[in-house]
Amino acid sequence: MPLPTEALAELVAALPSGVVVTAPDRVEKYRWDRSQDPGTGTPAAVVRAEDAEQVQTAVRWAAEHRVPVVPRGAGSGLSGGSSAVDGGIVVSLERMAGVEVDPTCQVAVVEPGAMNAAVKAAAAEHGLWYPPDPSSYEFCSIGGNVATNAGGLCCVKYGVTTDYVLGLDVVLADGTLVRLGGRRIKDVAGLSLLKLFVGSEGTLGIVTRVILRLVPAQESRSTLVAAFPTPTVAAEAVVAIRRRLRPSMLELMDQPSIRAVEAHRPMGLDVDAGALLVAQSDAPGSSRTDEVSLMEKACLDSGALEVFVTDDPDEGEQFVQARRMVIPAVEELGALMLEDVGVPVPRLPELLSAVAEIAARHDLSIPVIAHAGDGNTHPLIVVPRGDDAAHLRALEAFEEIMQAAIGLDGTITGEHGVGRTKKSALPDQLGPDVLALTRRVKDALDPDGILNPGAIL
Ligand SMILES: Cc1cc2nc3c(=O)[nH]c(=O)nc-3n(C[C@H](O)[C@H](O)[C@H](O)COP(=O)(O)OP(=O)(O)OC[C@H]3O[C@@H](n4cnc5c(N)ncnc54)[C@H](O)[C@@H]3O)c2cc1C
Repeated sequence: MPLPTEALAELVAALPSGVVVTAPDRVEKYRWDRSQDPGTGTPAAVVRAEDAEQVQTAVRWAAEHRVPVVPRGAGSGLSGGSSAVDGGIVVSLERMAGVEVDPTCQVAVVEPGAMNAAVKAAAAEHGLWYPPDPSSYEFCSIGGNVATNAGGLCCVKYGVTTDYVLGLDVVLADGTLVRLGGRRIKDVAGLSLLKLFVGSEGTLGIVTRVILRLVPAQESRSTLVAAFPTPTVAAEAVVAIRRRLRPSMLELMDQPSIRAVEAHRPMGLDVDAGALLVAQSDAPGSSRTDEVSLMEKACLDSGALEVFVTDDPDEGEQFVQARRMVIPAVEELGALMLEDVGVPVPRLPELLSAVAEIAARHDLSIPVIAHAGDGNTHPLIVVPRGDDAAHLRALEAFEEIMQAAIGLDGTITGEHGVGRTKKSALPDQLGPDVLALTRRVKDALDPDGILNPGAIL
């Protein structure tokens, strides 16, 4: 139902000038996230909040008028989580970007719109480190990271966003602001509500402040790059490495990904390799050499064609940059349907074989990258622009890859969230009882279903 003009006028009047944006050309950029979800809607307005109180005002107004609210960070999401809803409002947190480091407690107190990179930079000024590092760290917000429980490259050793969230301020669906957790390392008072909001994809509340645990700055790193004849052989090496140790990074790129990066920006990668592993160790002292030697042996024993090791941080960073560049590089080949399926590490080779089989059967190009040490893969289904038949085949492949992961005791999403693009497969993963429990939690916190309707459920 379209929003009555008087209701919208009330919202505009309740907030300072310039906070509510309704001009269609300005609203347009708040409709999409990076998944380019075709089902996205057109919001009636965007609230570019400057503080938590303004978020509360907007949500109270939305509750009163039963208007859908889509929280939005930087819009780098890959699952349609911040796709707009027709006639709703988008609450953008981009202007709330403060970062304050408390070195004594080793925490950062962060507004949700701050970029992940800004938190890392602020922590580094105090010799501290905020580990979670999505490849998008320079252009994704902490609020979005919390809402998706974002992962990244160093999670294999250092864990994901939730492992660093000590406190949250959250605006609930009725506009109440609750303060959960704090600067405390340990706190078991009451139910673990804090963690309920991490990964809730804006469906349970809007995060307006985050307290993040920081750790001492990372030790220097050694980088290992190994070339393999096929992705499955590379995955066997990952299983062998993870059986013995937990490196600080263990990433995989298959040949189409390597070639896409080389076409996008030549970096001297081995374009004839069937797959590359990029691994790092940041173990202290001589343990680093030991870890790298173990990884090198595991790669060679598993069938690596070539292994290269460097202790030069800049040289190592070049390979990590190449890995981070894959999604933008593959985006140049066509429209992407981006998967995020994960499995227990020992089943990674089976998952990669399943993806290759699905790609061949549907005659599609599906380059694969993986946070391989976590068993989390990103098959990138490429749809040549304007090719409707390929689009239909891609839709089938997208579902089949999620089903393949479920069949391997895996997950339809390891780090990007369900959003709107993966929810068709959620019932198959969760089963009826867990799905019903999820609905009960949602209904209890958001009885009118105004918060990010259509996402997850
Ligand atoms: C090239 C590229 C590489 C990527 N690499 C990774 C990676 O390695 N690991 C990874 O995990 N992700 C990765 N991503 C995905 C994306 O960057 C993450 O999901 C990120 O956490 C989204 O943050 P955002 O600020 O852009 O959120 P948005 O896209 O704006 O929103 C994402 C979700 O969070 C909700 N949300 C946002 N802010 C709030 C808030 N303050 N309160 C409540 N809900 C909120 C939205 O409603 C939506 O459901 C990548 C994306 C790209 C484009």
